Amino acid sequence: MTLKINSLLIHGGIDGDETTGAVNVPVYQTSTYKQDGLGKTRGWEYSRTGNPTRAALEKLIADLEQGKYGLAFASGLAAINTVLSLFKAGDKLIVSDNIYGGTFRILDNVFKNFGITYEIVDTSNLAAIEEKIDESVKAIYVESPANPLLTITDIEAVSGISHKYGKLLIVDNTFLTPYLQRPLTLGADIVIHSGTKYLGGHSDTVSGLVVVNDEKLADRLYYLQNSIGGVLAPWDSFLVIRGIKTLGVRMDRHVENAERIARWLDKNEAVSRVYYPGLENDPGYEVQKKQANGAGAMISFVLDEKYDYRKFFEKLNVVTLAESLGGVESLVCHPASMTHAAIPAEIRKEVGIVDELIRLSVGIEDVEDIIEDLAQAIEASRI
Ligand SMILES: *Cc1c(COP(=O)(O)O)cnc(C)c1O
Repeated sequence: MTLKINSLLIHGGIDGDETTGAVNVPVYQTSTYKQDGLGKTRGWEYSRTGNPTRAALEKLIADLEQGKYGLAFASGLAAINTVLSLFKAGDKLIVSDNIYGGTFRILDNVFKNFGITYEIVDTSNLAAIEEKIDESVKAIYVESPANPLLTITDIEAVSGISHKYGKLLIVDNTFLTPYLQRPLTLGADIVIHSGTKYLGGHSDTVSGLVVVNDEKLADRLYYLQNSIGGVLAPWDSFLVIRGIKTLGVRMDRHVENAERIARWLDKNEAVSRVYYPGLENDPGYEVQKKQANGAGAMISFVLDEKYDYRKFFEKLNVVTLAESLGGVESLVCHPASMTHAAIPAEIRKEVGIVDELIRLSVGIEDVEDIIEDLAQAIEASRI
């Protein structure tokens, strides 16, 4: 029986425990496993290489993304580190022009030192991507919606370009999760997640995930996962599995709240610009509607210059000023000095990450309370 997404969230992967009938996957808190004789393992040798609790999460995320092979890591960046280790000196990646700051940092300050370079392109512009493709380009790395400007890239169209030239398409699906968007079904080769965000969902666990369909690619990634060693611990694997069970109900509420708030911000005179792909006037609206089942719950907006954005952050009571996103609680951040501080000021300015930009991760509180809190903080920050 093929399960639909909400059932899959609860029963996908490895459901429960065969040995005892426990409805939850046990936490196999062990580093090693008894061997019954030389070369006679029961399928498990050492927990960096494999752990049953982690394996349950890896199977689950593969099922959810409609992929074949899943891998779990100690953080989103450990996942990204492993994926980038597929490449070698002389290789180049084409990268979306607004991406998670940490992704930019590892490209710019770690992999560049090993001779793996990158080219920043507005990936919502297909012609601009094609123009940059040459022999040295080995992959296109996309976030859609991108962080923090929620720029939408047409994943299916980019997969057409990447495959025409024999390049890999890598998609960071953190902002939408497989509940709203499944990039492998749109032609992506590798899907990456920071499981720290919506998948875990409760701002209590740092984790990362990767899913692929191709067996050779999977073998290489498992080899790299074991070689580099940034694996997710058993307890944290359990927490992410637990978080995923409620992903559907959480995302429904996240999106419902975000749509209300985006419309409210869009009409607010104190706000000079709203970035949210669920608004009909957003440039990404049509593509977003075509490739995903919802626009997610991340909104960015620019406060008018008659308001002091520093004061706005200080005056919030319900919405919390913090890094991260995708938890049940509403969080705001200031990309220019927080999540995207690793990006040089001139690049930030060029792509539109201005100092007045505010990024809001809409939680699942009562939406009226979030709006009331935003309204009073905006009012109190009037210059
Ligand atoms: C947070 C985040 C990451 C990095 O994940 P960590 O779990 O913090 O290491 C990567 N991509 C996106 C889009 C993110 O939001």
